[in-house]
Amino acid sequence: MKKLYFKENSKMSWSWVLMVLFFILSFINVYFALLGLICMLAPLYHTVRGRGKINCSHYCPRGSLFGKFFPYISFNNSLPNWMRSNLFKNLLLIFMFGMMTSGFILSNGSLYKISFTVLRLIIISTGIGIILGIFFKPRAWCQVCPMGHVTSALNRKKEKGE
Ligand code: SF4
Repeated sequence: MKKLYFKENSKMSWSWVLMVLFFILSFINVYFALLGLICMLAPLYHTVRGRGKINCSHYCPRGSLFGKFFPYISFNNSLPNWMRSNLFKNLLLIFMFGMMTSGFILSNGSLYKISFTVLRLIIISTGIGIILGIFFKPRAWCQVCPMGHVTSALNRKKEKGE
């Protein structure tokens, strides 16, 4: 029986379509890339509303894309321990966040450049996710994803009541 990489009957069985649409629209008109901010902020929104990591298990278009198609092409190896370490996830978070912040600052308020920064970030992160998904588990990206990492940390704090 094929392993499911998201909850059955969740919106993730089809939300990968949004990811494909995002790329098509953004390549036609880069301003559509701003929609990517919704995708980035959704995990935080749900976590802050007390819904834990529901975005990662029920909605995320990128998680859906990897979970839907990559089981057919993935070598299915486990990620090495060093990649699952907090140090690696923190460095990746700093790298991604730094790239976004510097892009926004250098944009000088130009919406075109801000859109381009978001698109570049999503292309790079999806590219890394594709490579990880092929050589490791289909949703290996989700084990290091900066947004997943931040929401996990927030959840742990909430559970501890901090
Ligand atoms: S870990 Fe990241 S890519 Fe994976 S489902 Fe969560 S938000 Fe989406």
